[in-house]
Amino acid sequence: MFVRGVTKEFVLHRETVVALSNVDLDVPQGGFLSLLGPSGCGKSTMLRILADLEQPSSGTALVHGERPSVARLNHHLGIAFQDSALLPWRSVVDNLKLPLQAAGLPASEAALHELIELVGLAGFERAKPSQLSGGMRQRVAIARSLVHEPRFLLLDEPFGALDEMTRQRLNLELLRVWAERQTTTLMVTHSVPEAVFLSDAVAVMAPRPGHVVETIPIELPRPRTPDMLRSPEFHTYTDRLSAVLFDGRSTTPSAVVS
Ligand code: ADP
Ligand code: MG
Repeated sequence: MFVRGVTKEFVLHRETVVALSNVDLDVPQGGFLSLLGPSGCGKSTMLRILADLEQPSSGTALVHGERPSVARLNHHLGIAFQDSALLPWRSVVDNLKLPLQAAGLPASEAALHELIELVGLAGFERAKPSQLSGGMRQRVAIARSLVHEPRFLLLDEPFGALDEMTRQRLNLELLRVWAERQTTTLMVTHSVPEAVFLSDAVAVMAPRPGHVVETIPIELPRPRTPDMLRSPEFHTYTDRLSAVLFDGRSTTPSAVVS
């Protein structure tokens, strides 16, 4: 993913809101970048531009070298939002088929089953969303975003509404899925530990106007394991990100993790 100089202005009641100002982002193929920042700093707007749901006012946004409109037409994008937006009258497997049916693509039962196993929902194929926990519904949403094997996954606070323990478990599952599928991922979160635990790099954003304060590479080894959450290196990263997040200022090189 390649974003250069993206600015987005909304006109609302004759007032102009600058949702994004001159944003640059890079995610190498197969990489995992998180956008971290308070409400209103333009995280969702950035994701929506990459998903071809908004047009930038100026600047360039490319996903795997393609314009978002082209990537969307070619079914190269997978998207999951905080509110899992499953159809309540459809079973798990029928919700997963939805994007394929909408695109007129064939649904292979074997591929669907493999995906259901991948997100840990084997045995729940015929369950309705109302019969599932919040965490399970988000797993279905993630599985659904992966159903057409996208090259690029866009996640907007996918675990934001879940309790801490469920969130942690789903973080581990997301890492497993990401490692297995090697899907380039951009995730929006407002959790500092979640951003550090999952990402290759974290772009910290600030509002008025929405901009990237600093992009910090997370050089923890992979695969990431829960015991890393207690390591000094992990805490050095969370402290540094929190400082950038709450001061809204870039850190000095002396604060860089040695
Ligand atoms: P975040 O996801 O970081 O909370 P958003 O991208 O949703 O932030 O919003 C960034 C800013 O842009 C906010 O001030 C928001 O009110 C404004 N905004 C977002 N979408 C629209 C829209 N469709 N029309 C007008 N203003 C919008
Ligand atoms: Mg948002």
